[in-house]
Amino acid sequence: MIKDIFVFIETRSSIIAEVSLQLLSEARKLKQQYIQKGMQHDVVAVLPGYQVESLTSTLFRFGADKVIICQHEKLKEASTQHTTKALSDIIHAFAPDSFLIGATVIGRDIAPRIAARVDTGLTADATIIEVDMTSDSSLLLITRPAFGGNLYGTIVCPNFRPQMATIRPNVFEKIEMDSEDKEVVHFETTFDKSDWVEILKREVQQAKANDIAKARIIVSAGRSMAKHMDLIKDFAQTINAEVGASRGLVETGVLGKDVQVGQTGKTVRPLVYIACGISGAVQHTAGMDKAECIIAINSDPNAAIFQIAHVGIVGDAVLILPKLKEELQKILN
Ligand SMILES: Cc1cc2nc3c(=O)[nH]c(=O)nc-3n(C[C@H](O)[C@H](O)[C@H](O)COP(=O)(O)OP(=O)(O)OC[C@H]3O[C@@H](n4cnc5c(N)ncnc54)[C@H](O)[C@@H]3O)c2cc1C
Repeated sequence: MIKDIFVFIETRSSIIAEVSLQLLSEARKLKQQYIQKGMQHDVVAVLPGYQVESLTSTLFRFGADKVIICQHEKLKEASTQHTTKALSDIIHAFAPDSFLIGATVIGRDIAPRIAARVDTGLTADATIIEVDMTSDSSLLLITRPAFGGNLYGTIVCPNFRPQMATIRPNVFEKIEMDSEDKEVVHFETTFDKSDWVEILKREVQQAKANDIAKARIIVSAGRSMAKHMDLIKDFAQTINAEVGASRGLVETGVLGKDVQVGQTGKTVRPLVYIACGISGAVQHTAGMDKAECIIAINSDPNAAIFQIAHVGIVGDAVLILPKLKEELQKILN
């Protein structure tokens, strides 16, 4: 029988990707919506890997009712072909109603391959997932931005199962909950092809800077700040923040794409986001509008960023930032 919400648990060196925990928590909300419709869908964490049993308690803590572990030496590193085969086999064996995958480098690589193998559709880069409360089916309404974020399309998959989607990191929140360890199922798979690519060793690149996706405070600079990066960096340092950027600034070449916030950059969810000279184009705000507190400094009182800012300062950021720094230092020292 087709049922349950499956979530792919991505790991690297036995560390669970944050997005996988965020998806488990979101799947839990979908489960509640199904309960309101009188349907029972469990949240099932699908964990391919090698020697990964110790991770199951974390998965239960973030919302899993059941964990399917698929262990094999060849799954030690997230190899595209082996992970695709393992997850496709699991879908064939368990017939889940939906399958959610984080839109990471690995997730984006394997999701379309799996969808093709199990003959279903895939909604890539979704930002909203809801249960269709108007029908008596288990249909999901999966929304994603289109045409550069100017339109949102809601996609349904009425005729094929599972309903598959990839979701970008930090779109959803991970929520810890009280739960006791529950069912763990072991699933065995075989890899009969010998000509598949095998990952022999993984060289970890030295991180260039802290990841803005995990930052609690971000000072983000727009195109107009290209010549004032010393000011931005100095201000960020004062308040122990990471530096982010709009695509407008990244295009000037003063910062790399790894700090770009937005639809084609990173999605961030900090406590405080300070947007300095950023116009507030929808492609930018799509990546930061879930920040707890948005402070915008812009010389144009009609800038779109003010529509989502909790605190708006109209003026020249080059003049305002040093004054703000001075005031903040009085409090911080
Ligand atoms: C498919 C697609 C994907 C995209 N993805 C992204 C994305 O991921 N992230 C992203 O950011 N953009 C993205 N964009 C680009 C986006 O549409 C905007 O062009 C971009 O965000 C503009 O950057 P900006 O606000 O820094 O620059 P601008 O649009 O040039 O705005 C500069 C702002 O700074 C203000 N300003 C100027 N001088 C000062 C000053 N001294 N003090 C204070 N304010 C000042 C101006 O009033 C203005 O509002 C994408 C576009 C497309 C089509």
